[in-house]
Amino acid sequence: MVLTPGFCKFDLQTLTKLIVMQKLILLILVLFLHSVVQAQNSTTQSLPFRYEELTAPDFVKAVQKSEGVCLLPIGILEKHGPHLPLGTDILGCRQVSTQAAEKEYCVVFPMYYFGQINEARHQPGTIAYSNEIIWNLLQETCNELSRNGFKKIIIVNGHGGNNDFLHYFCMSQLHSMKDYSLVLFQVSEDSTMMKKIKSMRKTTEGGHADEVETATILSIRPDLVKMDLAATQSGANQERLEGIPFQYTGIWWYARYPNHYAGDGSKSTVELGKTVLAFRADQLVKLIQTVKNSNKIEELQNQFYMEAADPLKTKQ
Ligand SMILES: [Zn+2]
Repeated sequence: MVLTPGFCKFDLQTLTKLIVMQKLILLILVLFLHSVVQAQNSTTQSLPFRYEELTAPDFVKAVQKSEGVCLLPIGILEKHGPHLPLGTDILGCRQVSTQAAEKEYCVVFPMYYFGQINEARHQPGTIAYSNEIIWNLLQETCNELSRNGFKKIIIVNGHGGNNDFLHYFCMSQLHSMKDYSLVLFQVSEDSTMMKKIKSMRKTTEGGHADEVETATILSIRPDLVKMDLAATQSGANQERLEGIPFQYTGIWWYARYPNHYAGDGSKSTVELGKTVLAFRADQLVKLIQTVKNSNKIEELQNQFYMEAADPLKTKQ
């Protein structure tokens, strides 16, 4: 077949148009797919980690994305020297938790300030719930988190007066079978970072509203720190039980620090606060990552529950 020049010209034009159209369709398709992927990514990226900010449909995604890990920062409402806010402990541990969740996705439970604080009942602003309330509230919070899919709960405690309560609470989880694991975050004091913090400090004594704690609030909410008042009360150990050896008594804290001030917050700096918070958050990130990648605790728990259900049978 001999093609006439006209036909040939027409054919080439059609062919060119077809190729251009084909390229355009391909380009539109690529752009469309790209926008779909981007939309999916942005949905994932914008998924809040603060429990109270999630919608119900997003909550389902958050449980999946967090791999069932929920942080439960626990603080208290109590006096912190003459210069720090009553909610200092909850502000501190929530900051550590949110810094960690930004690096390793997990959900952070809302403001929780229901703990042990009997020793501060003589100070204004203390909310000291009964033993039954703090125990039941924490147990039911864990139960409800588990019912909602969080099978790995990490408590991030910000209040020293909770330590004994929380250790006992964790141990008591073994009394009956649980379908979740409960882990209490413990800051390590043996690392190089701890040495760095010690080198940055100007004081050595403390423990409550002291240089370190004041520094953390200075870096989180400087507007809440009344530095001009930090030296107006004594944060020294008053040693009022020193004559009674070999004992533990509930009045020990009041005997030492009746002002609810242990240390000297007046020498704090923002830099120290940022360093301390970053150090704690980094350790928490490592714990979250490990808990996500390991079921060791759950496996040992289940083995324990099985043996505990019939100790004689399993030991035959
Ligand atoms: Zn505190």
